[in-house]
Amino acid sequence: MPPLRLVDATKRYEGGGGTVTALSHVDFAVNAGEVIAVIGPSGSGKSTMLNLLGLLDDPTEGRVELHGSPVAGRSERERTDVRRETIGFVFQDFHLIPTLSAVENVRLPTAFLPGDYTDRAVDLLERVGLGERLDHTPDELSGGQKQRVAIARSLINEPDVLLADEPTGNLDRDTGVAVLEEIRGIAAGGVGVVAVTHDDLVTEYADRTVELVDGILEDGGG
Ligand code: ADP
Ligand code: ADP
Repeated sequence: MPPLRLVDATKRYEGGGGTVTALSHVDFAVNAGEVIAVIGPSGSGKSTMLNLLGLLDDPTEGRVELHGSPVAGRSERERTDVRRETIGFVFQDFHLIPTLSAVENVRLPTAFLPGDYTDRAVDLLERVGLGERLDHTPDELSGGQKQRVAIARSLINEPDVLLADEPTGNLDRDTGVAVLEEIRGIAAGGVGVVAVTHDDLVTEYADRTVELVDGILEDGGG
C-alpha cells in the first residue's frame, strides 16, 4: 500500500477567460523508500501536483489517497493533523526562520504538540552532519547547511513522505550532491521522496523520473 497516491486526478482552475486544465487524469503512487523526480516545463502542472500530494488542494476529479484511504471529505483540522503526521516539506529557499537557531527551527513544527522535541531535533541535526551548528542562526550557515536544517525539520514528525520543491535550486553542484546524498539516506530509511526539479542532478539520484507535459504525466525515461 503506497503511503500517498493520486488516482486519476484532474485539476482545473476556473478564472478570467475560462478553464485551465492544470493536471489531467494523473495516476501517481509514492512508494516507501523511493526517490521520484518530477520534471516538466514551466506551467506543466508541477506545483499543482505538489499541492495535491501535500493535501493543500483537492483535485477537481479523481482522488488523493493516504495509505489507501481517500483524503476528500476530511475536515480542515483532520487534514492538518494527517499532513503533520505523514508529510514533510522541503523548499528551494529553505523557509527557515531567521531569528531562530538550527535546533529551534527544526523543532518548530512540534510547537503545538505536547512534549519536548529538542533531543529529537538535536539527533536529526547530528544525522545531517550539523551537530556542531546547533545554535547557529540561518545567516551563520551556508546554503547547503541551511538546506540540511530544512531537511532535519521536515523529518521531525517522522513523515512517510517527503515533498521537495527544487531542493537543490539554490545550491552549487557539490552542495547539491551532499543534499541529495542526505535525501537518498532518508529514502533508505523507508521515506518516499518526491522532488519537483529542473536539475539533472536530482534525476541522476532518483529511482525514477516522471515528466509532466501540459498536465499529463509521462514516464520520464529515468
Ligand atoms: P508549474 O509548477 O509546472 O509551473 P503550475 O502547476 O503552477 O505549473 O500551473 C499549471 C497550469 O495551471 C498553468 O497553466 C497555470 O497558469 C495554471 N494555474 C496554476 N495555478 C492557478 C490558479 N490558482 N488559478 C488559475 N490557473 C492556475
Ligand atoms: P558548504 O560547503 O556547506 O556550502 P561553505 O563553504 O559555504 O559550506 O561554508 C563553510 C563554513 O563557513 C561553514 O561551516 C559555515 O558554518 C560557515 N559559513 C558559511 N556562510 C557563513 C556566514 N554567512 N556567516 C558565518 N559563517 C558562515
